[in-house]
Amino acid sequence: MALTGMDIFKLLPKTNCQECGVATCLAFAMKLAAGQAELDACPHLSAETREKLEEASAPPVRQVIIGTGEHALKVGGETVLFRHEKTFVNNPGIGLFINDAMSDQEISQKLEAFKKLAYERVGLILKADIIAVKSQTGDAQKFTTLIKKVIDAGIVTLALMAENPDVLAAGAQAAAAFRPLLHAATIENFDSVVKIATDNKCPLVVKGTSLDEVAELAGKLAALKFKDIILDCGSESFVKSFQDNVIARRCAVVQKLRTLGYPTIVFPCLMTDDPLYEAVIASAFITKYAGIIILSEVQGHNLFPLALQRMNIYTDPQRPMATTEGIYEVNNPDENSPVVITSNFSLTYFIVSSEIESSRVPTWLLIKDAEGLSVLTGWAAGKFSADSIAPFIKKSSIEEKIKHRKLIIPGAVASISGELDEALEGWEIQIGPREASALTPYLKNWKAA
Ligand code: SF4
Repeated sequence: MALTGMDIFKLLPKTNCQECGVATCLAFAMKLAAGQAELDACPHLSAETREKLEEASAPPVRQVIIGTGEHALKVGGETVLFRHEKTFVNNPGIGLFINDAMSDQEISQKLEAFKKLAYERVGLILKADIIAVKSQTGDAQKFTTLIKKVIDAGIVTLALMAENPDVLAAGAQAAAAFRPLLHAATIENFDSVVKIATDNKCPLVVKGTSLDEVAELAGKLAALKFKDIILDCGSESFVKSFQDNVIARRCAVVQKLRTLGYPTIVFPCLMTDDPLYEAVIASAFITKYAGIIILSEVQGHNLFPLALQRMNIYTDPQRPMATTEGIYEVNNPDENSPVVITSNFSLTYFIVSSEIESSRVPTWLLIKDAEGLSVLTGWAAGKFSADSIAPFIKKSSIEEKIKHRKLIIPGAVASISGELDEALEGWEIQIGPREASALTPYLKNWKAA
């Protein structure tokens, strides 16, 4: 059961030293209970108190990290049933399934597609995250050879699957440096597989034939202080697996049932032979509530729509999506190219940069940080005003890149042109079109002198 702010306060040192950045221990306790502070902010907790508070402040679905460094895949960490209640936290990982019975050619093609397919949208890279490598033959040598081939291809976020614990151990050792996810501890092999995961410090899937069995295994594993657990409800039926995912999430979030409070892994690749239906199944699991979704193929026709759906659902609805402030070069601009400025609301950036790109006019695009607000909203909030644009222009190195001093502002904020003219000495402020769709003819007719 989660602790209240007062429960947490009783466990704090009560010195009000403020090292956590909060005025009092009570205020810190309240923030912690509301999920607005990190336990690490207080350096004065005993190991025992920390353990108690960690347990109490952990999200209902524990966050699990697979892999290491920049390739690490974070899943779980979820606190709500519905995205509009707060936000979903970590994207579900999209994975590709391969096994050691596939031909070299088939594997090479799949790895190539996995590495190559990436899409940039509103400043984010959409791509697949993890490869599930299965020992189909039961031959440890073949399994480790395949794992090494995947690693040599530069793919190091892995789920290793083998029914025989000895084969799984060989695979875990071959990829130990990359902290792969091991699949799976079952009732039959529990002790031996848990030992492999513990020895290699790897996260582990518990797999059962029912949700009850999975909960029992997860509870047994948690009692051993093993925290990095992923649940596999074991069903190859979409309907059953979907039900299990929904029940597991409800039990974790609503009932606070710790034994089901872990991310899940699902295998649409094993649920159908129809690629289209497989994509539909994966789409359902993005919505509810898989942590990792393994596909038989990663190709443009399934990866792009799934990754886009995932981005839309897992974007925090309370925070506008923003692009990094800076100078963006579109169509290789030079010293005589026009300079266009807009706000860093991602959708604005995406639309304006796409229009400029399709105009083929070399252009400097300046993106001003307006805290992710659109041009008009940013202007109304004082984030895209003459006062804030002028210092940004001066601080940016745009003056070193161009000979002219002409700045094109969005037509929607034409009213700031006078103020901006005064604030930006030596610059001529030009009023661009209100709509991005009119940028092409505008830029084509634009002249530096
Ligand atoms: S750092 Fe710890 S002891 Fe100090 S005020 Fe914050 S919660 Fe209290």
